[in-house]
Amino acid sequence: MAPVTIVTGGSRGIGAATVRRLAAAGHDIALCYRADTDAATAVLRDVHAAGRQGIAVPADTTDPDQVADLFDAAAALGPLTGLVNNAGVTSTIGPFVDLTLADLRRVVDVNLIGYILCAQHAARRMTSGGAIVNVSSAAATLGSPGEYIHYAAAKAATDTLTIGLSKELGPHGIRVNAVSPGLIDTEIHALSGAPDRATRLAPGVPLGRPGQPDEVAAAIAWLLGPDASYTTGAILRVAGGR
Ligand code: NAP
Repeated sequence: MAPVTIVTGGSRGIGAATVRRLAAAGHDIALCYRADTDAATAVLRDVHAAGRQGIAVPADTTDPDQVADLFDAAAALGPLTGLVNNAGVTSTIGPFVDLTLADLRRVVDVNLIGYILCAQHAARRMTSGGAIVNVSSAAATLGSPGEYIHYAAAKAATDTLTIGLSKELGPHGIRVNAVSPGLIDTEIHALSGAPDRATRLAPGVPLGRPGQPDEVAAAIAWLLGPDASYTTGAILRVAGGR
C-alpha cells in the first residue's frame, strides 16, 4: 500500500516542493492551504501527473474543526503514515518593541498551536506507526534580532515539541523529526515586507546563496522515508552553514 502523507501549507514554497517530491517518491498526498486555491490546484495537478492520488483541502491549521476535517478528508486516501507540519507564517519585519499583539498571537497560533493540533490527529490515526516532520527554522538558534524574535521563539518551541513527541510517540512506532531551513527563496519574505531578504542576506551564508525549496524538501522526504528508520528526535539544519 502506498504511503499516505498530509502536507500542511502544501500550496506554495517549501510545502509545494515537498508535495511534488513525495508524489514522485510514491506517496499519496493530502495537502492543505489557507487561501490560495489556484496555487493549491496547480500543485495537485502535479501530484496526479505523477500518477499518485491527491486532494487539496482548504484548512486553516489554527482552527481545530478545520484540522479535523483535513484529517477526515485524508482518510479517503488510506491509512495515514506521514505528516509534514509545514504551514508557517512570519509577521512584518521590524523592531521587537513595535510588535503588535495580533501579530504575536497569529505567529504563535500558526507556527506552534497549529503544529500541535495536527500532530495530535496524526498520533491518534497512526495506529500502525508513521513519521512526522516538523518544519522549524534556523531562526530558532539565530534569534532573528531586529526582524521577528517572536517567530524565532515559536520555532524554538517547535524543536522542543519535536524532541518531546519523539520520546512519547517512539514506543508507538512513530518517528518525529524536524528540519530547520535557513534562508530559502520563497514568498514568505515578501509577505514579511522584505521581498529581497533572501538575496540581500545571502553574502552572510557560508555557501553564499539562498537555498531552494526543493533542497529542503529533499531532507523532509528522507526523514519521512525508510532510509531514516532509526532517526527520531533529530533536528536537521538545512541552512547553507548559517
Ligand atoms: P510560504 O512560501 O509563505 O508558504 C506558506 C504556505 O503555508 C502556503 O501554502 C500557505 O497557504 C500556507 N499557510 C500559511 N498559513 C496557513 C494556515 N494557517 N493554515 C494552512 N496553511 C497555511 O512559506 P515557506 O517559506 O514555504 O515556509 C514554509 C515553512 O518553512 C514555514 O513553517 C516557515 O516558517 C519555514 N521556514 C521558511 C524559511 C524561508 O526562508 N522560506 C526559513 C526557515 C523556515 P496560503 O498561500 O493559502 O496562505
